[in-house]
Amino acid sequence: MEAFERKIWLSSPTMHGEELEYIKKAYETNWMSTVGENIDEVERQIAKKVGCNYAVALSCGTAALHLAVKLAGERLYGMPKPGKGTLQGHKVFCADMTFDATVNPIAYENGQAVFIDAEYDTWNMDPAALEKAFEIYPDVRLVVLVHLYGTPAKIDEIKAVCEKHNALIIEDAAESLGATYKGQQTGIFGDYNAISFNGNKIITGSSGGMFLTDSKADAEKVRKWSTQSRENAPWYQHEEIGYNYRMSNVIAGVVRGQIPHLAEHIAQKKAIYERYKKGFQDLPVQMNPYSPESEPNFWLSCLLIDPQAMCKQVRGDSDAAYVKEPGKTCPTEILETLAKYNAEGRPIWKPMHLQPIYRMNPFITANGNGRAKSNAYIAGEKPLDVGADIFSRGLCLPSDNKMTEDEQDKVIEIVKSCFA
Ligand SMILES: *Cc1c(COP(=O)(O)O)cnc(C)c1O
Repeated sequence: MEAFERKIWLSSPTMHGEELEYIKKAYETNWMSTVGENIDEVERQIAKKVGCNYAVALSCGTAALHLAVKLAGERLYGMPKPGKGTLQGHKVFCADMTFDATVNPIAYENGQAVFIDAEYDTWNMDPAALEKAFEIYPDVRLVVLVHLYGTPAKIDEIKAVCEKHNALIIEDAAESLGATYKGQQTGIFGDYNAISFNGNKIITGSSGGMFLTDSKADAEKVRKWSTQSRENAPWYQHEEIGYNYRMSNVIAGVVRGQIPHLAEHIAQKKAIYERYKKGFQDLPVQMNPYSPESEPNFWLSCLLIDPQAMCKQVRGDSDAAYVKEPGKTCPTEILETLAKYNAEGRPIWKPMHLQPIYRMNPFITANGNGRAKSNAYIAGEKPLDVGADIFSRGLCLPSDNKMTEDEQDKVIEIVKSCFA
């Protein structure tokens, strides 16, 4: 097989032309700052689409998560003194298998994340592990959940646990814009919600994010904090710490041009997922699963290799090795082979409890296993915790919506060749 002539990306921006018109209009009317019609329009359209009262456009999803954490912290523990975080040593339960942008805002506010293991049905926070965490830390009042790769988490079960323990929810819907759970869009299930328009997300502004809420007061507070906390006075008057987190009207022009194409992107991503599923039906693998009560946005298609088809694979902090066996493979071999053919895959998000920066933070599993002893996947050994297990056996496949069917068929052949 020849290598791909053009690179096959994991997930790259897909522009349509309208974006340029909205950017051009911003330029020609000189609304080249953090106010303007594009911003007003994307806030209105996304709030309508997701089904919430207010959307506040911000510089990125991480900023939205930070202000969500700050709002929750202030509501739970009061306004902090300058230099202190709103969480100030308090613990927060957080999904373990995710991108670190989900977790870092807890640290920005001086809280301590307690990581909750994933489950195998949706690869998101395990409600049983969450319940266990409340048994161990009954004082915790805040939970951060995420919908990984665009697949909704077990929202009702998680909400029930949170209600029982009187905890607030932050929903990180950065990867799941357009996905639904029991017919409702993700991004409105939490007390505070965040989405992202980062370059590789389902639609993009090149960067950008939003805070979503039904609360007028919260929306106003986020708006104020995101513009350096200016008070309503003739001069620059400040009573609180502020941030420069607003979205630019140019970026908003890109987002505005993308919104009409969200459904089309989701349909393309779903077709990719289905084609992989069919292409791999005879291999000892499964695709990233979802529950029948949800409809993902299929942002990334992922693969999980069956335990008996895994060859030995060892991962260090920055490198990986494996021992090839006939009929068996591992994510490292598949990713290296894809790269050889000029196609981009990616490991599953490395769980937070395995990250050097968070290695001292507590980690709760449903089965009581706790932290795995090593990162090695050794066939026949005691299963690792769910997050470490999916990290060991799983990978993200090239999921770019501009990939042709022929190109995807070739990706399928490349993956198949690793099982030879
Ligand atoms: C992309 C992403 C974010 C952060 O969004 P940015 O806009 O890049 O700041 C947060 N959480 C998850 C799960 C993400 O994938």
